[in-house]
Amino acid sequence: MEFTGLKQQYDLLRNDINAGIQRVLDHGQYIMGPEVAQLEAQLAEYCGARHCITVSSGTEALLISLMALGVQPGDEVITTPFSFIATAEAIVLAGARPVFVDVERATGNLDPARIGRRIGARTRAIMPVSLYGQPADMDAINDIARRHGLAVIEDGAQSFGASYPGQTGGQRSGNLSTIGCTSFFPSKPLGCYGDGGAIFTSDDELARAMREIRIHGQAERYRHTRVGVGGRMDTLQCAVVLAKLPTFDDEIAARRRVAAAYDRCFGSRVETLGGGKASAWAQYTIVPPRRQPVQAALTAAGIPSVVHYPQPIHLQPAYLRYDDVSCPVAELLAGRVLSLPMGPHLSQADVARVAATVLAGLDA
Ligand SMILES: *Cc1c(COP(=O)(O)O)cnc(C)c1O
Repeated sequence: MEFTGLKQQYDLLRNDINAGIQRVLDHGQYIMGPEVAQLEAQLAEYCGARHCITVSSGTEALLISLMALGVQPGDEVITTPFSFIATAEAIVLAGARPVFVDVERATGNLDPARIGRRIGARTRAIMPVSLYGQPADMDAINDIARRHGLAVIEDGAQSFGASYPGQTGGQRSGNLSTIGCTSFFPSKPLGCYGDGGAIFTSDDELARAMREIRIHGQAERYRHTRVGVGGRMDTLQCAVVLAKLPTFDDEIAARRRVAAAYDRCFGSRVETLGGGKASAWAQYTIVPPRRQPVQAALTAAGIPSVVHYPQPIHLQPAYLRYDDVSCPVAELLAGRVLSLPMGPHLSQADVARVAATVLAGLDA
């Protein structure tokens, strides 16, 4: 059994993907070719933001966003410790200090109730993560940010395709705050075949800044009005995402069916993390009281499982120096979470077999 269904997805979309790649090879515009603007237009329309800027990875998306906001040494950015390292890494790369705020027990996402007391004179932005595909509590986070004059950058690397039934009603992840970032790393809900990412905003000035920063801060060729990065997404990778986009909503629907099937198998016997109906279901993650026996049962049955993430960022060796806070909820979850196979490739029988193995492991 595969953890993600990338092989099956390629088998289904082979003709469109191959044709898209062939078109790029034929026109030869490997950097900033026509597929880049095409993809940006389609993605902006998909998530409802005025601008989409494709970039070389999700990590670069976060960094470019912070640079465009003018975040600099001495500044602080509030974020979650329960994420992939790239979230805090981008803050440090921008020269700022990550300030960690603990997460909600039920979702694993940044807890808005704990943000206020960590806002200070140097705070510039809040960077929540929509973990496992479920949007963070963006209404509450946006309210806090508005009151304190802060920007909000959603790290939506795992949540592209999710929607958010908030105050504004049915908006999509990526379009829930000042700036939204996502990743097209192959195993994300919408992946390319290498590295790639995108930034969304409806702020014209920020969009212009981010387009320039992506290409070495150049306002026109060889005229550099700001310090930037080499952050473009390849034309070939844009062609891959373009070929996948028409069936993306069907894939999200299939992920929701798989999640619902897991839910039915588990009932109230297994705690799960997050995953409201609007999730993009990047992961289906359980929180067993003891992880080890469950993981061992899955491994023995030949079923892959992954811990996202075994150590929260504030306790990572390279990040200890930035904030000596303790985040007991993130620490507890890191010791217990386990992500199960998830993707449109899973049959009901596959789900039933995984669930039965989990339940057997729980009782072991
Ligand atoms: C994958 C991921 C990133 C980084 O994306 P890359 O494209 O791999 O650079 C950032 N944040 C989160 C939460 C992620 O899951």
